[in-house]
Amino acid sequence: MCCPVGLVAVGAAAVQSRVVSAAPEVLKTVRLRKTFESVGAPVRALRGVDLAVDAGEFVAVMGPSGCGKSTLLNLVAGLEAPSDGEIFLAGESFAGKDESGLAHLRRRHVGFVFQFFNLLEDTSALENVALAAAIAGAPRRRAELRARELLDLLGLPDKAAELPGVLSGGQRQRLAIARALANEPTLLLADEPTGALDSAGGLEVLELFRRLHAGGQAILLVTHDERVADAAERVVRIQDGRIVGSTIAPSAVRAVRG
Ligand code: ADP
Ligand code: MG
Repeated sequence: MCCPVGLVAVGAAAVQSRVVSAAPEVLKTVRLRKTFESVGAPVRALRGVDLAVDAGEFVAVMGPSGCGKSTLLNLVAGLEAPSDGEIFLAGESFAGKDESGLAHLRRRHVGFVFQFFNLLEDTSALENVALAAAIAGAPRRRAELRARELLDLLGLPDKAAELPGVLSGGQRQRLAIARALANEPTLLLADEPTGALDSAGGLEVLELFRRLHAGGQAILLVTHDERVADAAERVVRIQDGRIVGSTIAPSAVRAVRG
């Protein structure tokens, strides 16, 4: 990914891009803004968000409904375009990328977990995951092997042939997480992943995020639920489209102190 030295010898922008690609962050947003033009007044959903997620870090973004959490994730996933500001994913800038460039970046680096699962309901659990691996570029046989591995890892080995509809809420979200991991993402994004679950299902899914983080997976999760945020290493608070605070979670402090 790094540039040949001869090409970066001149120009501040070239030097800057080399510095950025050498940074340890898996995600960096710089003065990120998103304004939705609607009938009435424009909605300023994000008003200059500077956020970095380091390799292996688990960050929860918290804030009340409507503060811009989903907008932030959608921008980071390249699903929507920012109005202003910059996004770097695995050191690569989104600037100047068209739809297919963004899709390529997403396939390589991002796994997305939705509140309402977004599973293919008439397709087996195994196929839901294998399709995602195939879309990420794995040949058919490898895609299926990867899907089996993930179902094992996520505690669903006996559900491979089942349709998502017969699974519990927690199992459905675990399946959706397996699908999000199919491309071995640099960054796992999750939008209110426990929001549609009962408390047992929510705990099941949180435990899984903790395990994935312990295994080195970088995670950026958004939620309005304090209990969910407590699973993270760092909690960033957003209000009205701006970051208003960032704290290390008590559990992470305990871990550092031993
Ligand atoms: P959260 O996920 O924190 O609940 P969102 O990011 O969904 O918040 O929304 C932030 C603000 O942007 C809200 O005021 C919402 O109504 C507005 N918004 C989100 N998406 C759109 C859109 N496609 N068009 C217009 N306004 C939108
Ligand atoms: Mg939302």
